[in-house]
Amino acid sequence: MSCDFELGHYRELLAAAKTGGYRFASFDHEPAAGDLLLRHDVDLSLDAALTLAEIEAEKGAQATYFLMTRSVFYNLASPEGERALGRLRELGHRVGLHAVYPGLELDERFDPVVAWHNPDPEFMRERLDGAVNVMQPGYFDPDHYRSDSNQHWRNGCPHEELAAGSIEWLQLLTHPEIWAYPGATMRETMLAMLDAERARDLERLAADRIDLT
Ligand SMILES: [Zn+2]
Ligand SMILES: [Zn+2]
Repeated sequence: MSCDFELGHYRELLAAAKTGGYRFASFDHEPAAGDLLLRHDVDLSLDAALTLAEIEAEKGAQATYFLMTRSVFYNLASPEGERALGRLRELGHRVGLHAVYPGLELDERFDPVVAWHNPDPEFMRERLDGAVNVMQPGYFDPDHYRSDSNQHWRNGCPHEELAAGSIEWLQLLTHPEIWAYPGATMRETMLAMLDAERARDLERLAADRIDLT
């Protein structure tokens, strides 16, 4: 098995979790033995989020998607954004807020759970009023956490440990863009994403009655 950041290997990760006997849990209780918390920080692309969300639903997996309200890359308040939110719920996933410090506008679109975007260490793990911070004590500790940041596993791809059931519980942070678009490096993946976005933008322009003839 090769640990590429590709959809095929994402499916293998989900299969490994099943083999290992993990439960797909969410951030409504502190993780217990056997819990796997699939966390997705959606930094760049709702399309990529939906791609992963469909695959997870097919495989009987539930995840929590953390969406931004003030992203420069997508607009959650647009019809596309609203459709994406609705589809994530329909597929059985949870939706939390991916917040940029110190802005915390946790409205009714979100479950009471927050993941900070690019946080500074001093407030990264602070508890919040009325919501769970995914990095607060009880939900996060370094031995039970893996992240694919910038297409690089700091502590290795967890598929073997998941399949063996050897990790007590795990918060697994993945960024959908990294998996939904091909590329051997973050740069290549981002270029593939931009190619796809260009095609989507052309569709958006046509839908906006822009003359492209
Ligand atoms: Zn792997
Ligand atoms: Zn982020």
